[in-house]
Amino acid sequence: MTPKIVTSFIGGEWVEPNESSHKIKIIHPADEQHISTLYEADTNEVSNAAETAKKTFDSGVWSNASVDDRKSVLLAIKDLIIENKEEIAEQEVMNTGAPIAQAYGRQIPRSAMNFEFFAEFISQASSPVFDQNPDYITYVRREPIGVAGLIAPWNAPMALATMKIAGAIAFGNSCILKPSELTPLGFVPFMNLLKKAGLPDGVINMVNGRGSVTGTAITQNENIDVIAFTGGTETGRVIGAESGKTLKKIVTELGGKSANIIFSDADFERALDAAMVAIFSNNGQQCLAGSRILVEKPIAKEFKKRMVERARNLIIGDPFDSKTEIGPLISKEQIEKVMSFAQTAEESDDTNILCGGKRCESFQKGYYFEPTIVETKSNQNTVCQEEIFGPFATILEFDGIDEAIELANDSEFGLVSYIWSTDIRKIMRAQAEIRAGVVWVNTPLMRELRAPFGGYKNSGIGRDGGEWSRNLFTEEKTVSIPLKDFPITKLGEND
Ligand code: NAD
Repeated sequence: MTPKIVTSFIGGEWVEPNESSHKIKIIHPADEQHISTLYEADTNEVSNAAETAKKTFDSGVWSNASVDDRKSVLLAIKDLIIENKEEIAEQEVMNTGAPIAQAYGRQIPRSAMNFEFFAEFISQASSPVFDQNPDYITYVRREPIGVAGLIAPWNAPMALATMKIAGAIAFGNSCILKPSELTPLGFVPFMNLLKKAGLPDGVINMVNGRGSVTGTAITQNENIDVIAFTGGTETGRVIGAESGKTLKKIVTELGGKSANIIFSDADFERALDAAMVAIFSNNGQQCLAGSRILVEKPIAKEFKKRMVERARNLIIGDPFDSKTEIGPLISKEQIEKVMSFAQTAEESDDTNILCGGKRCESFQKGYYFEPTIVETKSNQNTVCQEEIFGPFATILEFDGIDEAIELANDSEFGLVSYIWSTDIRKIMRAQAEIRAGVVWVNTPLMRELRAPFGGYKNSGIGRDGGEWSRNLFTEEKTVSIPLKDFPITKLGEND
């Protein structure tokens, strides 16, 4: 059942609702009904959360717990997510409008896997020892950094936030999560299972509210040592600047406009299937969407025809229907934003809307937008340069690998890229020359948690995943110990 209100979760308890708090209506995007109310955390509440997290950290109850103890709690959280998957998925879908089949198939398993992954990672991680100098042994200790501020977006709330939470707590930190103010609901059942998993109170805390209020209070708080942020590029700049004032460590995972390059020697059917998944899963609202499709001239006509047929055939509907492939967009603001790009495409001379481009007329209520494919002649067109974040793909033709690479790199973003070809030399050249943090060759959406994930250029700073999350959430301490006595210069003995 959807909770009527959502407050902060601090020290293992839900904060009593304070009627003077700013309140935000949580809307179900499929019918625009007001389903819950968020009570915003102000600066004082964020300070309380940060103090609680710091006290918990300093107490050593978690930060000094053995790796085996931490591992077993992380695995218990994983098991409880799986046990409670119906409830978590229901709240997540209620909140985001993402199709339930995708919540069960991707978002919830990924949330559970995040805890399993870091549980296994900490039990295997080691640190370097330097023994080249025969007189010394020098080794590196990894210590938790303290309190982590985790700021998350609305598009895949649980999957993205739990990657941060699991990474932060696995290494002994305490944390404060701030989900998007649009999507707090899935975290209610999640917070409720932490005690049962054996996690000490105060290790995971949550504050809710707008970025300008609750988010800013996190980035300004002196008790918070590190910020892990996922969200838009403009927000990333503000958070980077604000966090710099108190010298917090920071990683930012930001927007994308990823090129999906399809060469004429590609396996056509697989490339088509993957192009559909890359742009239309999660209602097109994903940072790693293959939203800029570049297709080689000899196959372009056929590819466009087939992709448009498939897009027109997508099942759009109630996100709780297990057959639904596309649900509503998250909010009124988001659908208006996506519609404004359709308008831009319509008004532009070098674009042609092949399908979609408007609200779904068959729905009286809900933020349903037709799956949209726009062919463009120039990569400079706004719809090729800006992140639209909806079921909206552009298709541009290219002639040969030089042009493909040039177009792929002609973007302020560099998050992921896709290459479809059966020619290994083409693949090897393209993967080397494309400026993006991740290259997927002949596959869509392969997230290897052991490997770094993050962006080049305006797609972010830093990476997460295995060792890279460890770098973010730990301090490194170099310890040198002499193996024998050696003469020390006697300063001050001048008689
Ligand atoms: P957003 O930037 O509007 O908000 C993200 C989070 O930041 C929210 O919790 C918001 O409340 C908070 N926030 C906003 N202003 C803040 C401030 N001044 N100080 C502190 N916190 C603040 O992004 P969104 O609309 O929620 O998410 C969509 C964006 O996220 C897209 O650009 C998408 O590409 C990006 N994204 C990136 C990745 C990735 O891994 N690179 C993954 C998912 C989403």
